[in-house]
Amino acid sequence: MKTLSKEIAGWGRYPVQRCELERPERHAELTARSASVIARGQGRSYGDAALNEGGRIVLTERINRFAAFDTTQGIISAEAGVTLAELLAVSVPRGWFPSVTPGTQYVSLGGCIAADVHGKNHHHDGAFSRSVREFELVSADGKRLRCSPRENADAFWATVGGMGLTGIVGDVEMQLRSIDSAYINARHTAAKDLEQAFRFLQDAEHDARYTVAWIDLTSRGAALGRSVVMAGDHAAADALPRRLRTAPLLLKPRGVRDVPFDMPGWLLNPLTIRAFNALYYRVAGRKRAPFVTDYQTFFYPLDALGNWNRLYGRRGFLQYQCVVPTVTALAALQQLLEALAASGHPAFLGVLKRLGEEGAGQLSFPMAGYTLAMDLPMTGPALLKLLEELDAIVLRHGGRVYLAKDARLAAPSFRAMYPRLEAWWPIKQALDPDGVFSSSLSRRLSIGGVA
Ligand SMILES: Cc1cc2nc3c(=O)[nH]c(=O)nc-3n(C[C@H](O)[C@H](O)[C@H](O)COP(=O)(O)OP(=O)(O)OC[C@H]3O[C@@H](n4cnc5c(N)ncnc54)[C@H](O)[C@@H]3O)c2cc1C
Repeated sequence: MKTLSKEIAGWGRYPVQRCELERPERHAELTARSASVIARGQGRSYGDAALNEGGRIVLTERINRFAAFDTTQGIISAEAGVTLAELLAVSVPRGWFPSVTPGTQYVSLGGCIAADVHGKNHHHDGAFSRSVREFELVSADGKRLRCSPRENADAFWATVGGMGLTGIVGDVEMQLRSIDSAYINARHTAAKDLEQAFRFLQDAEHDARYTVAWIDLTSRGAALGRSVVMAGDHAAADALPRRLRTAPLLLKPRGVRDVPFDMPGWLLNPLTIRAFNALYYRVAGRKRAPFVTDYQTFFYPLDALGNWNRLYGRRGFLQYQCVVPTVTALAALQQLLEALAASGHPAFLGVLKRLGEEGAGQLSFPMAGYTLAMDLPMTGPALLKLLEELDAIVLRHGGRVYLAKDARLAAPSFRAMYPRLEAWWPIKQALDPDGVFSSSLSRRLSIGGVA
């Protein structure tokens, strides 16, 4: 198979690395075929998880056929390169929705398994792996292993959250959720500070199946952590406004605008970000009455702007996402926000979510607690130093950083944050004794076992 040597990056456009790309056209062509290889879906991880500097990358974008869809039970089988966008286009008109979805639909099913992604409903429904009935794992020697919580369960749990390091996921069978309409009953509640946002996120009155808080990362002093808590659930067709009731499962295609080129690096600076956040807090917080919105707007607001990562200019940006356990979460998040404020570094698109219990995937990110995510324009060493300070706070409180978003965590911090690595490592060795599956992320974090 032909390979192409190319400089590529993750969604944050940092780091940029030269890798050898190969793009199999068929499922049967999926193999390791190299001493160092990693799978790549849609490249929506932010850092270097789907990069392999000097090594090979298997692109799964053409491994994207549907195999079967049982529309009475909501069970769908598809190749791992199928995206959630492709799945939604098929499933929503038939009354089915992914049980768990991240904040973009432009991700592959393989990428969702490898990162064991979570959605706004993690506190009710767990991570992506909970909806996966089984998958095929292509191992380094070309063997194809069926993995489920019952069959080859070790390989199943080491692969969910395993960041592609146990093999290539070839196909997936998953359980979808039954829906009555393509719409969501939503409601916003403004919280004046972090403490109130916490109360709302814990409180049944403000909670729904899907709950998330947008947090103003530029707020200071008494308003530190002011947020808009956004909650919603799938709407019943007969409760929709009359004009939507005739075809409740069908949406008009949404117009997508594109950011046509790299914006100048100064566009997102502390002043513009502060002004945007103040406006957003006022506008989104003002929507007090419950309202009906379509699922695209509710789950995927950023997908309406194609290539929005160009807004950060050529230097790109980093996303910092951490989770801290419930007991210390308020104190930890206060310290994180204060450290961010003291640094003066601009931070955009802050999201705060409650997460439910940890799953059985040893490297899976979620744990019972609160997760904070933010986007930070890449400014060089000052930013990297700030993020190390944030790591220290997260570690002190027993939390961890999300590998799917990471581009710079240090190996010792990773080991301290993921204590179940010890249980994962023997399974990785059994599946891939020669360490064929490796990535820039796995080498940076010494996940290959070398400290
Ligand atoms: C706007 C935006 C919002 C997001 N919101 C969320 C969110 O709410 N929750 C959340 O959890 N994540 C979120 N993410 C992160 C994203 O869901 C994950 O990074 C996901 O893994 C991306 O899927 P992908 O197909 O692009 O994978 P890639 O970025 O291509 O790869 C990610 C990892 O998966 C591995 N991988 C990919 N395909 C396979 C395969 N077939 N077999 C084995 N390994 C494979 C890669 O090796 C790599 O380690 C968001 C990302 C963006 C850009």
